[in-house]
Amino acid sequence: MKQRVKVIVNGIVQGVGFRPYVYRLAQRFNLTGTVQNSESGVSIEVQGVPKDINSFVHELPKQSPLLASLFTIETTQLLLVEESSFVILESTRSHSSKTFIPPDIATCDECIRELLNPDDRRFFYPFINCTNCGPRFTIVRSVPYDRAQTSMAGFQMCSFCQAEYDDPLDRRFHAQPNACWNCGPLVELLDRNENVQPGDPIVEAVRLLKQGSIIAIKGLGGFHLAVDADQPHAVEELRRRKSRPDKPFAVMVPHLEAAKVLCHVTDEEATLLGSAQHPIVLLQERSKALRAVAPDGYHLGVFLPYTPLHHLLFADGSLSMLVMTSANLSEEPIAIENDEALDRLRGIADFFLMHNRSILLRCDDSVLRRISGQTQFFRRSQGFVPYPVVLRQAVPPILAVGGELKNTLCMSRDRYAFLGQHIGDLTSLSGFHFFEESVKHFEDILEIHPKVIAHDLHPGYLSTQWANSQRNVRGDIRIVGVQHHHAHIASCMAENLLSGEVIGVALDGSGYGIDGSVWGGEVLIASQEGFTRAAHLAYSAMPGGDRVVHEPWRMALSHLMDTFGDSWRTQVPRSLMLSVPASHIAAVERIFANRTYSPHTSSCGRLFDAIAALVCDRMFISYEAQGAIELETCCDRRSDLGSYRFPISDDSCMQIETNSLFYEVTTDLRNRVAPGIISRRFHNGLIDVFVEVVFRIANRSGLQRVCLSGGSFQNAILFEGMKKKLEAAGLNIFTQTQVPTGDGGLSLGQLLVAANQL
Ligand code: ZN
Ligand code: ZN
Ligand code: FE
Repeated sequence: MKQRVKVIVNGIVQGVGFRPYVYRLAQRFNLTGTVQNSESGVSIEVQGVPKDINSFVHELPKQSPLLASLFTIETTQLLLVEESSFVILESTRSHSSKTFIPPDIATCDECIRELLNPDDRRFFYPFINCTNCGPRFTIVRSVPYDRAQTSMAGFQMCSFCQAEYDDPLDRRFHAQPNACWNCGPLVELLDRNENVQPGDPIVEAVRLLKQGSIIAIKGLGGFHLAVDADQPHAVEELRRRKSRPDKPFAVMVPHLEAAKVLCHVTDEEATLLGSAQHPIVLLQERSKALRAVAPDGYHLGVFLPYTPLHHLLFADGSLSMLVMTSANLSEEPIAIENDEALDRLRGIADFFLMHNRSILLRCDDSVLRRISGQTQFFRRSQGFVPYPVVLRQAVPPILAVGGELKNTLCMSRDRYAFLGQHIGDLTSLSGFHFFEESVKHFEDILEIHPKVIAHDLHPGYLSTQWANSQRNVRGDIRIVGVQHHHAHIASCMAENLLSGEVIGVALDGSGYGIDGSVWGGEVLIASQEGFTRAAHLAYSAMPGGDRVVHEPWRMALSHLMDTFGDSWRTQVPRSLMLSVPASHIAAVERIFANRTYSPHTSSCGRLFDAIAALVCDRMFISYEAQGAIELETCCDRRSDLGSYRFPISDDSCMQIETNSLFYEVTTDLRNRVAPGIISRRFHNGLIDVFVEVVFRIANRSGLQRVCLSGGSFQNAILFEGMKKKLEAAGLNIFTQTQVPTGDGGLSLGQLLVAANQL
């Protein structure tokens, strides 16, 4: 007895080779029927014996194409029809259809084989791609997603390419960026004066890199600045020109084996490196050989070639690794246009390796790290955006605008929350333009018209001001402010599909509190709708306001003055007195004497800064969280070295006192206890006290679920220690693996809170 079943697949299934895959699968199980693109996915009808239909539905998600992402599969029974074959139907696109645009994906193995095969017609062609790989998100102008709406529109396919594109069984069927030497984009090499260099541009570029030149290379989501990582002088020169004195650079190595020579690589890390996205993975270095690349001896960001052009740079074997860093000045957005690159990077790059396929939207490389058996996003961008986070239930169309640093935006459509790419700092005008550009672009390609805008409570953030300005621009728009740490916890709840109340531990650098102070060491009882503050690090003065972020010595001094009163001078390390002008110290003393003039903070990040200043002599920083990173890096690996005490004053809102911490740290410093041991005792103490606070709240409230979020949890010791201790006590711990735990994930939480306040 035959049956006929309709299968509706929702997800990223268009333009990724899904219909040919369905065709082959149907053939395998002797099914007749049809497949065609539908509203928000693919609609399949299959007819055959029930056993085969069941196998078909069962197998469907298992071997689907690399780029496809299946969110839901629904089946319904149909009446039998007369038919004898399985056919791929042309798309009939209704106006209401809502597509999912796939992210850009690293060059696949099959394409690499063709790229390096002298007999292939695309031998050494730097833009080879197929339905499984190549650019998507960064070349799409609007929907429907087909070639005319991409930056490939200007390239007319040759007859060979067109034939591949039209053949449902070809691996380039409907691959929108399909191209070859005859018909596609080409590269050229220019010097600073825009003179085209003679010879093969890639061969020349490799030769110049070997000579120590700095080359701006146009990639998928923007330009990179590349330099031979084996030449410390060239790397130092890049640091100088880019005004980036300390922050580690990422290096691209030709293959996994090269990564293993450089770093310790676990199986999970190897899988990440070679995944479809080819993200930057932070790895433990084997030696400290690459001082110019990663001066702090912290984890080294490593990634593999992910475009054909990258593969060609390594093809002749003369380069063993390249520093590849976003082409920008300090924290400005990455450059994408040829003119923009020539203009903005003239003072940095010696040469420009560029091409004539436009990048329509900036997208930096993604950065991940394996911590405590799970993957953490430090930056979720290239390769992952615009994959959505699937929510517990459908929500209205909302735009959440994120925070100020590591900004991302987030937009919702039905059950899907689309977190945007890393925008970065919203403190500069260029960063702000990038933000506006992204809002517009997301609205276009996702066909979302937000009715609500969610923002941080900080009145000074450009994102907040932009949100408020939309009242005048967008008519009947609703504006919802969401407290920073509530948004962190809600973000964690969103990706873990939680509802109801949880205990939320939100530890980070700073977020505007509802009392006007700078929060950042918070334990909340939170739901999607609201929160109460259950505990926090005791307030301390921030002498100099926002300047403390760049000058950790100020927080160290603030704590010493608070702990030791008039005798604080006896406790200040010599290194601080030597590196900070006496007049600045005197100014801090004056501000401190009048504490009412100084903002107050309960920030965990600022506490790390204060300890880093005392223990690691980190008085000034040149990149975010540098002090905390150095404390983590120097921390003694033995965990049983004791811990500092943090007394808890137990009112309705508990306060975690820090004076005894500074008393103990200065005592250890006087006794010449090693920095690694002091760091360990600090980490242990912080873990112990927050675990104790969570226990007390759990006992009183009966809540058993604990969400950990906030940038401080990028610290592996803190994250792992707290998670393990809470789990050992039988609590259910939820953390972030789909979006960053830092402010890069903030917009997702804002969106969820706004959805629930409607
Ligand atoms: Zn491919
Ligand atoms: Zn062609
Ligand atoms: Fe934060």
